[in-house]
Amino acid sequence: MNKKVMLVRQFKSTNGCTEGQKACVRGLGLRRLNQTVCVEDTPATRGMLTKVSHLVEIIESGNHAVPFDDKEHDDQDSRKRAETDYEYLERSLPRLDIKYNCNHSPHVLILGAGASYAAFPKGDRNGLKLPLMNNLVEVLELEDLISKHGFKYKGENFEATYDALVQSGKYDGLVSEIDQSVEHYFQQMELPEEATIYDYLVLSLRSKDIIATFNWDPFLAKAFQRNMNVIGYEQMPQIAFLHGNVSIGVCNDCKSKGWRYNSCDKCQNQFGPSKLLYPVSKKDYSSDPFLDSEWKNLQHHIKNAYFITVFGYY
Ligand SMILES: [Zn+2]
Repeated sequence: MNKKVMLVRQFKSTNGCTEGQKACVRGLGLRRLNQTVCVEDTPATRGMLTKVSHLVEIIESGNHAVPFDDKEHDDQDSRKRAETDYEYLERSLPRLDIKYNCNHSPHVLILGAGASYAAFPKGDRNGLKLPLMNNLVEVLELEDLISKHGFKYKGENFEATYDALVQSGKYDGLVSEIDQSVEHYFQQMELPEEATIYDYLVLSLRSKDIIATFNWDPFLAKAFQRNMNVIGYEQMPQIAFLHGNVSIGVCNDCKSKGWRYNSCDKCQNQFGPSKLLYPVSKKDYSSDPFLDSEWKNLQHHIKNAYFITVFGYY
């Protein structure tokens, strides 16, 4: 098992400190101002850091969940480690670092179902429009498909229509064609070339933070990917896809996830789609292992959050 480590830095002199505080700083291996050392992350070192938090800061901690792979959730050890981290944060909320104007508690950003529409009012790079629930049937041109199967569509909200189709139990063929149409429509959307709101969002948050989105389109995942390629994965926030996403594939056998067209690194099978559509009157996120893990990750962050921002909900 790999040891978990932290990079810590002494940013203030021990002049005028008590002997106990000086001993803690020495105990961490720090001998001079602005020195950075790597220490093992144990309850003992965490305890010392708490006592001298006005002198020493954690620059980086080894705990980092993998946004597109569920391994961390499956691994008992890493789960324990993550809880230890958060217990520590909880005891000291808000963990403010006044010198650098930092808050080490997580910032949770929730992107409501209208967020992509608000962030991309002109649609994708090629002008392909983002639908909302009240015009999805029209934007995706599903009217003909629906009437071909003998269902009477009178302009209702898409979620209500889909719900009625599933609940009736008589339109399984149509339901699966709608599933495919929705996946195909969002799949082909391309992120505009210029920097978008989603690029700014992923760049403005840190690895302790999480963005939870209800949007199916690939824009957030693509913004994540292109910025990660420049600044590195370790700098990126986590993402939870609460309603599935066309960019994310899942392997339910191995409980892993990844980019939609990649293969599962455990069984080498290609990832299947993450489930996008649920009948609205019977939304059951916990029955799907992938969605369940996304929601749990969000809950975990909300429990310890210092900031929660909601964007694009109406
Ligand atoms: Zn697999």
